[in-house]
Amino acid sequence: MLQDTAKAAWEHGRQYLMQGKVADYIPELGKANPVFFGLCIKTPDGQSIEFGDVDKRFTMQSICKVVCLATALQHEGFDTVFSHVMMEPSGDAFNSILKLDTASNRPFNPMINAGAIEVVNLLAPTFSFEELLDFTRAICMDDEIVLDEAVYHSEFATGDRNRAIGYLLKSKGVLAGDVLKTVDLYFKLCSLSVTARSLAGLGLVLANGGVDPRTGIRLFSAQTVRTVKTLMFTCGMYDRSGEFAVRIGLPCKSGVGGGIMASVENRMGIGTFGPSLDEKGNSIGGGYALEYLSRALHLHIFDSEHS
Ligand code: GLU
Repeated sequence: MLQDTAKAAWEHGRQYLMQGKVADYIPELGKANPVFFGLCIKTPDGQSIEFGDVDKRFTMQSICKVVCLATALQHEGFDTVFSHVMMEPSGDAFNSILKLDTASNRPFNPMINAGAIEVVNLLAPTFSFEELLDFTRAICMDDEIVLDEAVYHSEFATGDRNRAIGYLLKSKGVLAGDVLKTVDLYFKLCSLSVTARSLAGLGLVLANGGVDPRTGIRLFSAQTVRTVKTLMFTCGMYDRSGEFAVRIGLPCKSGVGGGIMASVENRMGIGTFGPSLDEKGNSIGGGYALEYLSRALHLHIFDSEHS
């Protein structure tokens, strides 16, 4: 049953690929093949349901913001994190600098670039890139995640807007320390190569309250995971987060590399990969596949038994 619905969702999403466009503002991302499309669902009992390009590697991009936030909440604590970044949807593009200058000193939320750079700045004195890579491997249940050097170099070469965000934060006294080192670490974390399977693994650990269901080992506290999922729900899909909340009704996070990760409380983690993006930066096939799944399986968090 789940198998059939997942296949139908994958076929549904696949129809829309040609309506989107791959990201090319980072030249290396522009090389992605827009017809790649994969869907993976992982459940707590160890099933992995997979269709299409589920083992193709692509970069995590903004989905790393979830791992960064979880790590910061876990190690720096809720109050410290939210004294540096707010928890409000911005309604602006992920890399916008506008409101940061005019409306607020603290970034609106940790799912946009300004907020993620601030969060990475909190992590930088304590954690090396290698340690953060290890956390990412653990929470994605994928030991083969590595740095995609080509994307990292491309991102580094074209990342002036992110450096500008870092300097603006520093000029406001919000970001401490070395802007270039912080932004460099952020670029590396965006350039970690995952698969739809790894994203389903991440969604599953979040769905399971922060515990790896294979081992029973707790990776993040229940409180951390609850906060992360709430911010994914309200802010995880760029300036289309409101529409995704209505149509899909799940905590999701997308990245311009073409990934979407979704988490269904106690039930499953979902990872999709399709580098053809809508105009806001969300995988177009992934969005439609998730909407199909959510409707067919009544996954929306506000679906009741009467739906
Ligand atoms: N590395 C990307 C940037 O900061 C992340 C973009 C994204 O996936 O939203 O521009």
